[in-house]
Amino acid sequence: MAISKVIKMIEIKHRCPPTIFSDIDGTIWKHEGDIRHSMKGTQRLLPGAFENFLKWHRQGFKIILTTGRPEFLREATERQLRELGIFYNQLVMDCGPGPRVLINDMEATSEDIKFKAKAQAVNLIRDHGMEDLEISYTQEKDL
Ligand SMILES: [Mg+2]
Repeated sequence: MAISKVIKMIEIKHRCPPTIFSDIDGTIWKHEGDIRHSMKGTQRLLPGAFENFLKWHRQGFKIILTTGRPEFLREATERQLRELGIFYNQLVMDCGPGPRVLINDMEATSEDIKFKAKAQAVNLIRDHGMEDLEISYTQEKDL
């Protein structure tokens, strides 16, 4: 299977919509690797990014952007996000260039682990976009 054809699918069933933690460079727009471009340039949006963020926003997902960009690039980053129309709730800067690990609790008694797991992850290939990423959310009703 070609690396760009890997389908990413996450299914969530919960009372509340999920919170997305998403990287920016190489995930939402093309990774440039040059800090001068990060400060001044207009970024090149990757396929599926705008559509997914809009969809998640409309579904009531919370969107937290996490980036290794240093804090002094906050204003430039906010401007670039605005220019490209990317919806988000919070922007967390200075996360470092290393791997990211999400930790959460889950109900230990749950029988349906697939839907109860509260920490899930997707690794996207840098600069390939997110057209094949699907996060399906079904609202669970309170009993
Ligand atoms: Mg990145």
